[in-house]
Amino acid sequence: MIKNNTLEVIKKHNLKLTKTLGQNFLNDDNVVKDIVNSAGIGNDTLVVEIGPGIGSMTKEMALMAAGVAAVEIDRHLIPALKDNLSELSNIDIINRDIMKVDIEAIITEHKRKYNAAAVKVVANLPYYITTPIIMKFLEEVKGVDGMVFMVQREVAQRMVSKPGTKDYGALSVAVQFYSEPKIIFDVPPHCFIPQPEVHSTVIRLDILSQPPVSVNKDLYFKLVKASFGQRRKTLVNALSNAGIFNKSKEQIKGILQDMGLEENIRGEVLSVEKFGELANAFEQGNTL
Ligand code: SAM
Repeated sequence: MIKNNTLEVIKKHNLKLTKTLGQNFLNDDNVVKDIVNSAGIGNDTLVVEIGPGIGSMTKEMALMAAGVAAVEIDRHLIPALKDNLSELSNIDIINRDIMKVDIEAIITEHKRKYNAAAVKVVANLPYYITTPIIMKFLEEVKGVDGMVFMVQREVAQRMVSKPGTKDYGALSVAVQFYSEPKIIFDVPPHCFIPQPEVHSTVIRLDILSQPPVSVNKDLYFKLVKASFGQRRKTLVNALSNAGIFNKSKEQIKGILQDMGLEENIRGEVLSVEKFGELANAFEQGNTL
C-alpha cells in the first residue's frame, strides 16, 4: 500500500482548494485502500477515475490496474498531480470537465492503449455534481463493468432505497433500473482535508446486463419523473396534472385498475418493475 501525505502535498505545491469544485481530499490511507479494493480491479482493468485531485486513489489503483485514465477539471491541480504520480507510467491525466468529455472515446482509446479487458469507474465524487455524473455514466456510457463512488451518505441511501420508504425517489428508480447498488461502508468527515460538513458513503453499482424491465425508456422516465414530481399527490393526479401523457384521468384510473393497483395509490410505492408495467400500459394506448 502506498503512503499518502495529503497535507504535505498541499503545502509543497501551495494548493488553494476550491470548495465550489467539491475539493475534499482523502487523508486516510486505509479508506483509500478499502475503496480501491471494493472496485475489483485486476491487471487487465482500465480504471476511469473522475476527479483524481492530488492522486491519492489514482496511485493505489495504478498499482493494480492495466492503466488509469483520470479526468480532472482543475488545471491548478495538474502540476501537483503529475508530480505526485511521477513514479507510475500507466496513468493518463485528462484535464477536462467530466460532463463535457466523450467518455466512450476515452474508454476506447485507453482500453486499446493498455490492452485492457474490463473497465471500472472509480471516484470520490465532487458532491455538487454527484447525481448528474452518475446519471451520465448510467444512461450514456456503454462498456463499463462496474462503478464505485464515494458520495454524500444521504445520496447513497436514496440510491439503494426500496419502494414505500421515505428515501425512495426518481434517483432510486434510475439507479436500480441500470444497476444493482450496494453500500460498502461509511466514511466520517475527519478522513478528508478539509473536512466536509456531511458524512460520506462508498457505494458500488454493479451494472445489469439489461434493465429489469423492457420498456420505452423515454416514456418510462417521464412517468417516473411525473410520479415523484408531485409526491404528495395520488399517482392518478400526479400523472394527469403532468399534462404530457395525453390521457384522461379516467383512462389513467382504468390502467391502474387493470394493473391491480388501488385508485388512490401514490407513485412512491411502485417498484422499478411496476413502473415498467405502467409504461408499457401507457404505450399500448400510444399516449405520447
Ligand atoms: N480523488 C481525490 C481524493 O479522493 O482525494 C479528490 C476528490 S474531491 C472530492 C473531487 C475532485 O473532483 C476534485 O479534485 C475536483 O477538482 C474534481 N472535479 C470537480 N468537478 C469536476 C468535473 N466536472 N470534472 C472532473 N473533475 C471534477
